[in-house]
Amino acid sequence: MYQRLRAAHLSAVRAALEDHVARLDWPPERIERHRTERLRALLGWARERSPFHAARMGEVDPATATVADLARLPVMTKREAQEEWDAVVTTPGLDRAGAERVLAEQRWFSYTPAGHQVFSSGGSSGVRGVYVWDWEQFVTLACLAWRWQARADRAAGTGGPARLAVLSAGGPPHASTPLFDVPTDPATETVVIPAAAPFDDVSKAVADAGPTALVGYASVIGRLARATLAGELDVRPVRVSTNSEPLTDEDRAAIAAAWGAPVHNLWGSTEIGVQAVGCGQGDGLHVSEDEVVLERVDADGRPVGPGEPAARTLATGLAGRTFPFVRYDLGDEVTLLPGPCPCGSAMPRVAAVAGRRDDDFHYGTLLVPASAFRYVLGTDPLISEYQVHQTADGADVLVVGSPDVPTVTAALVEALQPYGLPDAAITVRTVDRIPRHAATGKLSRFVPLR
Ligand SMILES: [Zn+2]
Repeated sequence: MYQRLRAAHLSAVRAALEDHVARLDWPPERIERHRTERLRALLGWARERSPFHAARMGEVDPATATVADLARLPVMTKREAQEEWDAVVTTPGLDRAGAERVLAEQRWFSYTPAGHQVFSSGGSSGVRGVYVWDWEQFVTLACLAWRWQARADRAAGTGGPARLAVLSAGGPPHASTPLFDVPTDPATETVVIPAAAPFDDVSKAVADAGPTALVGYASVIGRLARATLAGELDVRPVRVSTNSEPLTDEDRAAIAAAWGAPVHNLWGSTEIGVQAVGCGQGDGLHVSEDEVVLERVDADGRPVGPGEPAARTLATGLAGRTFPFVRYDLGDEVTLLPGPCPCGSAMPRVAAVAGRRDDDFHYGTLLVPASAFRYVLGTDPLISEYQVHQTADGADVLVVGSPDVPTVTAALVEALQPYGLPDAAITVRTVDRIPRHAATGKLSRFVPLR
């Protein structure tokens, strides 16, 4: 039954994709006009159907609201969204308990009788999230995830990929597989490869699939690129789409060296869907400005100017009518990129998102950014994967590969010195594999001390 509904779903995506591709070449005024109407529709719907949002709407009139009026609404946190689930959701008869039942009972991705898909994620913030997407929302989000690739394929005069390998969680309850296992061209064949499997199995499955395009977790695709460079894997994808994890400079460099393929890096969330996607040409990622409102704000939730540093990024997902997220705190910081993109799209760009602040380690009042570890571990060609566990006065580091352990240890101790740790206690251990999160398949590279 899922396969039959899914086939209908994908036809809906292909039908809607033309419109979404065309929007990438809209002038800024047209994007803004569209966005304002979508925002009014969302706020109006939320006020009528969501007691949570109705109580927070205050003096804002959805019928005349603009993006600037969002600043008059309170910030929505992950904890509020999850604790007040039943008051947020806009579909009668749908509640958290029912959504949990779907998660517990479904044996594969499924649709509720009312046509929803239910997902969950552990999340790096420690708050378990339950999410529900309606059909129209899925169609829109899939278009946002895939329209840049479709536009680039057309510009290159090629059709969609012949074979797409999808490296994602593989099964429920994570949303990555339905969203990325999308043959946007009817002739495209897709192969889903669970990314949480041992790497040798993943690599073999990719070799067997012989994909012309790859989509999936950034760290897995980075590792496949390194395996290709090492002569252990022979595949030649002509287009690469990364998601779900930050794409590190090292992984991007490995992909460029291994395949020279354009990379479409996606910044998304189960809450909002697809905040931004790279076009494969210019730097950074283009914001899905027609379907997502991003606000860079200070610590008090007040919007800051494009050149000013922001404490947080708030997102309003214009396609999410079933469970509206309005001024939702994503827990990521983004920087706007100035100037036009060589691809010609007027959709604004943000710099690649380096990772959640949750990845940073706190030692008392000292803060050590994840990048301090990443700088050492991500650039060592003899390390193919790593995981850093914070300890009281340093870190225990697991690495896959054959690095020179004393050298790596010394380099990490040195890397932490500028952050106020003169002699951090670092241990480095080589292991055969690092387990991924059982439900999401994501790799937690940084595990803070709790
Ligand atoms: Zn571009």
